[in-house]
Amino acid sequence: MKRLSILGSTGSIGTQTLELVKEHPTEFKVTALSCQNNIELLKKQIKEFKPEIVAVYDKEKADQIKDVEVVTGMDGLKKIVAHADLVVNALVGSIGVLPTVEAIIHKKQVALANKETLVSAGSIIMKAAKKNEVNILPIDSEHSAIFQCLQGEDTHSLNSITLTCSGGPFKDKSRDELKKVTLSDALKHPTWNMGDKITIDSATLMNKGFEVIEAHWLYHLPIEQIKVVLHPESIVHSMVEFNDRSVKAQLGMPSMKIPIQYALAYPRRLPNIALPQLDITRIKKLSFTQPDLSLFPCLQYAYEAGNIGGTLPAVMNAANEVAVRGFLAEKISFLDIPKLVKMAMDNHKLIKQPSLDEIMDVDRKIKAETEDKMDEK
Ligand code: MG
Repeated sequence: MKRLSILGSTGSIGTQTLELVKEHPTEFKVTALSCQNNIELLKKQIKEFKPEIVAVYDKEKADQIKDVEVVTGMDGLKKIVAHADLVVNALVGSIGVLPTVEAIIHKKQVALANKETLVSAGSIIMKAAKKNEVNILPIDSEHSAIFQCLQGEDTHSLNSITLTCSGGPFKDKSRDELKKVTLSDALKHPTWNMGDKITIDSATLMNKGFEVIEAHWLYHLPIEQIKVVLHPESIVHSMVEFNDRSVKAQLGMPSMKIPIQYALAYPRRLPNIALPQLDITRIKKLSFTQPDLSLFPCLQYAYEAGNIGGTLPAVMNAANEVAVRGFLAEKISFLDIPKLVKMAMDNHKLIKQPSLDEIMDVDRKIKAETEDKMDEK
């Protein structure tokens, strides 16, 4: 049985991971769970999955948990990674960086759903993973698609990657319409059912920008060889082109459980009739078009940040994290999100080859500054 430590077990990826554990009772055993502050759901999960240890990030809420060892804060998250063969990192935000590093140091395989880890600290994570012979198994549907396409291939023959993008809820909106969109409009994703933060990132296309930077680290390709196309049907999850002009794509219904299960079971595939099946004859068309970067500048900023590298992607991520939190709290408008991100990137003094500490310092500083700018609004 593969022992799983699930960071962020009460979120969207965490709960779907637990459903998969239930669907494969002889394959996986949950040994550790963590949540930020959703204690009620965590209590139910503890009762059902009987982990050895749980981490509650919010220290004040931790004493509500009885009958199992409880650890708290960042130290708690770092501690529970040791209780596993595979660490599922489904945390949201740059809080996911240090637990990933800790898992790698402990030579645990990592199933990574936390995008901000590779966006902020990709160079450090990939170097550490190589040194410790740890696989970073992508949970994101696009990176899982690429990973599946590359099985059995010589990665040196990889020419380019095309990430598909649903376009989010606003793909057909004009600039004037985008000025007026509300929080509830932004939370209505047309094809994927996900947590709030990533749903907003999908509406701004920042999510796709993150995915470009992640693909750059995971598959060792220069940023300019990673393209994005709008594909509103969300059936083709991404494609790769090889140096002989052959193109491979991975298809499936838009369900996160498919890529999560692939990461959990890797290198095997597990049968699962509970997963939705693609009937290609019912899909009337598959369309692919260019995104409009002038309307969705966050994607452009991510290309810039990825190209320049150093601390700039961490800056972009930190400002975005705070701006999205502000938008979710209805403190700022939708178009304020790219504005705050750009401001932070323009004002930043780049560190070209930052240490992990420098990245985490920049993360804290930019978050505080972006909070201040938001309060001035
Ligand atoms: Mg994705």
